[in-house]
Amino acid sequence: MNFALTDEQKMVQEMARNFAEKEIAPYVEEDEANHYYRREILSKMGELGLLGWSIPEEYGGNGMGWIEAVIALYEIAKVHTSWRLSISGNCWGPAMTIYEWGTEEQKRKYIPGLLSGEYVGSFAITEPNAGSDVASMRTFAEDKGDHWLINGTKMWISGGHVSDVGLLYALTEKNKGAKGVSCFIIDYNNTPGVTRIPIETKFGMYAAPTSELVFENAVVPKENLLGPAGRGFQICMWQLNNTRMGCATGAAALSAAALEGAVRYANERTQFGQPIGKFQMIQQQITEMKLEDEAAKLLVYHAAWLKENKLPNQQATSMAKLYACKAAVNAANLAMKIYGSYGYSTEYPCGRWLRDAKQFETLEGTSNIHTMIIANIELGYQPNR
Ligand SMILES: Cc1cc2nc3c(=O)[nH]c(=O)nc-3n(C[C@H](O)[C@H](O)[C@H](O)COP(=O)(O)OP(=O)(O)OC[C@H]3O[C@@H](n4cnc5c(N)ncnc54)[C@H](O)[C@@H]3O)c2cc1C
Repeated sequence: MNFALTDEQKMVQEMARNFAEKEIAPYVEEDEANHYYRREILSKMGELGLLGWSIPEEYGGNGMGWIEAVIALYEIAKVHTSWRLSISGNCWGPAMTIYEWGTEEQKRKYIPGLLSGEYVGSFAITEPNAGSDVASMRTFAEDKGDHWLINGTKMWISGGHVSDVGLLYALTEKNKGAKGVSCFIIDYNNTPGVTRIPIETKFGMYAAPTSELVFENAVVPKENLLGPAGRGFQICMWQLNNTRMGCATGAAALSAAALEGAVRYANERTQFGQPIGKFQMIQQQITEMKLEDEAAKLLVYHAAWLKENKLPNQQATSMAKLYACKAAVNAANLAMKIYGSYGYSTEYPCGRWLRDAKQFETLEGTSNIHTMIIANIELGYQPNR
């Protein structure tokens, strides 16, 4: 067992850290305040190869895998959680799924643009009445012979209204549940019949756009079906097992950011003639944060290692996501307490950490859903894929 990073991994870490400090950090507060999505950050990430993990170089990949991806995403998310979505939204979501399930033509047409940052990617699963119960979706793609005609509404789609290329999950057969779901590649700039509405009432993740997508007789070319018709549910679960690493890593990074902030503040702030870090109750809080932060990080790295080595990893992925999310919410909550009243002001990032941490309890499988996956695998009720 080796916990040390290789020289190449150290280089990736340093490059991602420098990038986050130079290209993201200067805009964090401004973009939070204005709920602004700074598109050019994605382009710059693409230029540096920060979007191209686990995909061969002939399609624009960077030649590196899961562990390096997690290292890079962690550095980016630590500075601003909103930007953790870029790797899921472009690489682990659409690009990797097209690479696994697509035809050669689909791979060559869509993957390079997603990995270079030319396209903003997305994946649309959730609907107003279909969240955890994915198979209850209603969006329907009707086979019209020479094209698909799509009707329905998708909700809470990250990057939806700025997306150029995204995956869409829709029924191609009604009343067949999961077996009626299929997956499509949507070229949003060339698909008539899609209305994209920004969701502006979000509680956090202010610099990451989220959208409602309304498909009204949207015409999609026949060749944009991804994988066989009726296999969309399987493709969706396969995709989620990858994109959930974005949540797990982002949550671990947020926990680390809150811990670092709390340590800094505990050393700076003086009460009763000494730094508050000297008080045992503050120390207890710091210890709790440190333990959870370290455990979350190890679970994330372990899941990434299993993926890299193509070993069963669904349970490890759910454990990383569930635990890192708890660590992030707890760390953000404790940081706000340690910062006192200043923590409650927008002068400090505690509010952003807390708002952003709460997302992890819901998206890409709620905490309840991940608890079920972990227990069902442990009890032998479902395989660990
Ligand atoms: C910021 C943000 C970004 C998002 N990005 C995307 C995206 O890019 N693409 C996309 O498709 N979706 C996205 N989502 C949607 C997200 O994945 C869903 O909200 C999530 O799957 C939960 O669905 P729901 O909100 O409908 O909750 P519901 O499924 O209605 O759940 C409500 C509550 O019931 C519980 N519950 C449900 N079923 C069970 C059960 N069987 N056992 C125990 N408890 C249960 C849940 O845990 C939860 O507490 C995003 C959401 C947010 C907030």
